[in-house]
Amino acid sequence: MNRIVTLGVKGGPSLRAGASMPSSSLLELDGQLIVIDAGLGVARGLVEAGVALNRLAVVFVTHLHSDHVLELGGLIHTAWVSGRKDRIRVYGPPGVRAYWAGFQAAMAMDIHLRVVDDGRVPLSGLVEVVEVEAGVVPFEGLRVSAYRTTHPPVEHSFAYRFEGAKTAVFSGDTVFDPGLGAFAMGADVLVHEALLPEGIEAILQRTGGGEKLRAHLVGSHTMIDDVGRVAAIGKVGKLVLNHQVPVDDPAFTDAMWQARAGVAYDGPVIVARDGMEIAL
Ligand SMILES: [Zn+2]
Repeated sequence: MNRIVTLGVKGGPSLRAGASMPSSSLLELDGQLIVIDAGLGVARGLVEAGVALNRLAVVFVTHLHSDHVLELGGLIHTAWVSGRKDRIRVYGPPGVRAYWAGFQAAMAMDIHLRVVDDGRVPLSGLVEVVEVEAGVVPFEGLRVSAYRTTHPPVEHSFAYRFEGAKTAVFSGDTVFDPGLGAFAMGADVLVHEALLPEGIEAILQRTGGGEKLRAHLVGSHTMIDDVGRVAAIGKVGKLVLNHQVPVDDPAFTDAMWQARAGVAYDGPVIVARDGMEIAL
């Protein structure tokens, strides 16, 4: 079964009752199980998607903003205590190795006890961290490539392309970039972050954010109209919107997002929800 499950579709690190969770997705392609980003809720999202955590083998991190990486350590640890004994590979930008070392240091007492008391294999030997550069990512079984996106103030931020029987591209966070359309050329699915500018005022009021937050949202992300342009450049089969800003605001309907993306792009536009399965 080749599929994407959008586990968390919210842009930004805050949480609200009953609302969407921060960024994470599952890609199942040619028998490989790949997690893209690990925002809060990723472990629960995988279980709800029918993936036993002892199957966790590969995680790709787009960048080190907390809404994409906060639960990475928790996910790996929970996979380990769920019985994972084989290797887990984590691919991500420079800095992800330090994140993983820091998580192990923070949890050293528990990790030690679970080896000594529970007889588990050492966690440190289970995980291999690969810090990626732009270009081809060595990966057995699929063609994988990384594209450096512009996402201030984060220096290292990547989009990823996975090619097997089908092709899926994940934008990560990025400003509008026609080059990302070229990177996604011919993909069956493009999962792209999206910002609806009319929603910014409501977010600033709700979170108490000021001009700095406004400047980050506008200067670091892609307006929905431009997301449509990227999808059109790439002639992708399907556009899936994640990392939505705003999210779960009834004032902004799916039809509004779709109409704006549809100005430039004439394919199907899916406004993703947590736990939504998209066939590849
Ligand atoms: Zn970000």
